[in-house]
Amino acid sequence: MDAGFSCPNRDGKISDNGCIYCNNEGFSPNTRKSFGSIEEQIAKGIKRANAKKFIVYFQAYTNTYAPLDKLKQIYDSARKFEDVVGISIATRPDCVNRDVIDLIDSYTKDYEVWIEYGLQTIHKKTLGLINRGHLYEDFLKAVDLTRKKKDIKICAHVIIGLPFEDEGMIIETARSVASFKLDGIKIHPLHIIKSTKLEELYKAGRFQVLELEEYIDLAVKFLEHLWPGTVIQRISADCPRDLLVAPLWILDKSKVLRGIEQKDTFQGRLYKEAT
Ligand code: SF4
Repeated sequence: MDAGFSCPNRDGKISDNGCIYCNNEGFSPNTRKSFGSIEEQIAKGIKRANAKKFIVYFQAYTNTYAPLDKLKQIYDSARKFEDVVGISIATRPDCVNRDVIDLIDSYTKDYEVWIEYGLQTIHKKTLGLINRGHLYEDFLKAVDLTRKKKDIKICAHVIIGLPFEDEGMIIETARSVASFKLDGIKIHPLHIIKSTKLEELYKAGRFQVLELEEYIDLAVKFLEHLWPGTVIQRISADCPRDLLVAPLWILDKSKVLRGIEQKDTFQGRLYKEAT
């Protein structure tokens, strides 16, 4: 869904440049053209999908970044569809507070409710480089606040292949995320979308993207360090071909998944319970 939100990292509140890889047309197909009202988008999604029950995913931009009454009005749109059984709200970890979490929690009475926090990496240097505009500590606070509500499920987003992150740094992110025993995780291979600062850096030769085999190797190592109970909700990327700069292998999702599945190991193999 594109519910018409903005993002404080784009509208000047934090910065007006956004994350250096941000081009929401590349992440969320519904932002590519006007799909009409939220209700029209939900209706179209239901019609398109071969499924009986649905979770409305508020995906584009920062889906808690509005006054409370406006948030309620937007999330309530899901109530108009009887086959909708859940909502999932994607946001930044620095864009929630007690009131927002209380509101989101109110939907858990009759819905499956997820909140998805964009973390991307735990490393301060990388968070600065990619202009996230928040710190790992914001994620810690957001998880802590959300955990006070036992029925909200938490998913974190991370990116593998960020500029200048080596294997050790990626594993450190995996171990940190694992320590929270989160309900879900979405792992994204870094990919470069047109009209982004990342594209400029890439074309200037400032960093390289991962080859497919490198990504598979790192993604598998990441999975090995995760808590076994965390549901992997994503481990490949979706990007329209006309917006993708590199790497082109992300267009072949089944090859990525096959490469991961063929490794003789399993999620949590190297997970260690915090002492
Ligand atoms: S937080 Fe999301 S919407 Fe905001 S600038 Fe970053 S990628 Fe874009």
